[in-house]
Amino acid sequence: MDAKKEDIWNRCLEVISEKVGEGAFNLWFKPIRLRQLKKEFVQLEIPNRFFREWIEDNYSGIIEETFFELLRIRPEIRFTIKEKQDEDIKKLNAQINLKRRTLRNRGIYLNPKYTFDAFVVGSCNQFAHAAALKVAESPGTVYNPLFIYAGVGLGKTHLINAIGNRVLENHRNVQVIYVPAEQFTNEVVAAIKNDRMTEFKEKYRNADLLLIDDIQFIANKTQTQEEFFHTFNALYEQQKQIVISSDRPPKDIQDITDRLKSRFTMGLIADMQPPSVETKIAILEKKAEYQRIILPQDVKYWLAMNVKSNIRELEGCLLKIAAHASITGLPITLEMTKEILKDTIVDKNRPITVDYIMKTVAEEYKVKVNELKSKKRTKEIAIPRQIAMYLARELTDLSLQDIGKHFGGKDHATVLYACKQVEKRKEKEDAFQHIIEGLIKKIKGE
Ligand code: ADP
Ligand code: MG
Repeated sequence: MDAKKEDIWNRCLEVISEKVGEGAFNLWFKPIRLRQLKKEFVQLEIPNRFFREWIEDNYSGIIEETFFELLRIRPEIRFTIKEKQDEDIKKLNAQINLKRRTLRNRGIYLNPKYTFDAFVVGSCNQFAHAAALKVAESPGTVYNPLFIYAGVGLGKTHLINAIGNRVLENHRNVQVIYVPAEQFTNEVVAAIKNDRMTEFKEKYRNADLLLIDDIQFIANKTQTQEEFFHTFNALYEQQKQIVISSDRPPKDIQDITDRLKSRFTMGLIADMQPPSVETKIAILEKKAEYQRIILPQDVKYWLAMNVKSNIRELEGCLLKIAAHASITGLPITLEMTKEILKDTIVDKNRPITVDYIMKTVAEEYKVKVNELKSKKRTKEIAIPRQIAMYLARELTDLSLQDIGKHFGGKDHATVLYACKQVEKRKEKEDAFQHIIEGLIKKIKGE
């Protein structure tokens, strides 16, 4: 690899590290080696298949965006696996890759792994699953739109991809569009900038099935909402199916026009709740079987009991220990599991520190802990800073002075002011209160 390409890759890594945070970076990105870098593709060498599994599903978007930001290219990401692999796993992966590529060639960005078969049903998601299945079997006729909401990592993206994959199985030639709302927004912006609105409209209005992920993202974005509203109406009138996912119900999405909110509620609204321990076990068994991971009973129970409510995290833990076992050549044991996950899984009995509060709030608001400690007073920083101060007041025994010290030496009046601001807003805005409650749960490890 020539030095220049190595430099480019290192620059990408720096940006990625900021985006994913240090823990995830050390674990998943440090062991990656650059093999090739071309305009069309980048070839990365990884220790074993578990890396691919995790990176492909969780970070490929981030890697692609980083290349685009730095170099204005969108290379395909390819992996070389260092470790020798089982033939049947190789075959399985080759099949998935072929499917993925075939879809990409048609401009469809569905994840072929997210199918109904791979989706575990429990009482937490039974209703949403049934609705999704119905919609997939008779798109445009039963529930339109189908609006699915759930917290992070609870299967929204999986379920709406499953609808797309099933519809394509049944009808090969339908136009399916899966699009994260963030990308939809970027496309609106680009279309306006490049004077390509007609093409944009045509693309979306020709869809037979539109799956739009994380719609809460378009809050605040007037022009995107306007475009989405017209797209929605055009599709709806032609009885084309629309499926929307969100991290909260329509009524709690702030800064979105009432006419859009009312469109969201015209069909069926289904939520998904965090899984029970039994469902978590079922999910672990399914994932382990698919990945050919030998997972002892005690490890399974321990994971299901200790990884709280997020299925993505549950899967991440499973792949983390599988990757470790594979690198060391040792079988998975409970002891090993506890050791590997000691920084990931929060012990409910541990004391809550201001550092941990800052880290959690910073993650939620996509800012850096250092910025919370800084003197910056922009809204993007000041609000999470106030929230972190408020939470430090609520969740630790520290005095206002001591809390101030943790935030780069602010005085006690500043902390007090922050707490009051947060309290006031909490009383006024349900959605804000909801965010604060979510953060408290996360920090307490509930
Ligand atoms: P969300 O979009 O709600 O944040 P995802 O759909 O990305 O969550 O799910 C996170 C991970 O958890 C994915 O790898 C997905 O396959 C898995 N997952 C979520 N729900 C289920 C389920 N019911 N059965 C199997 N896997 C699930
Ligand atoms: Mg998602």
